[in-house]
Amino acid sequence: MTVSRRQLDVHKWLQVIQVLFDGLMLRCPRCEHGRMFRRGFKTYHACPVCALEFERASGEITGGMGINTYRSSRGLWASLRYLTGSNTESD
Ligand SMILES: [Zn+2]
Repeated sequence: MTVSRRQLDVHKWLQVIQVLFDGLMLRCPRCEHGRMFRRGFKTYHACPVCALEFERASGEITGGMGINTYRSSRGLWASLRYLTGSNTESD
């Protein structure tokens, strides 16, 4: 039995949809049954079903933090320039 390329594409998309749905439901990415959050923002240390540990890798948030810092500083700078009325670069 041969599997066509179209069947492979459909299978990949179904996997992507399953991963996104699991993320929305805050379920474990491995077993898809265990809950990741106890309540609010409190997470379990490990999945109660398959014992997968939910830990951040080191440096995982560095990129996001850098982007947020850059965008926040640009927004603050633009706000200050608007509020002080100095809209030209030569001021
Ligand atoms: Zn699990």
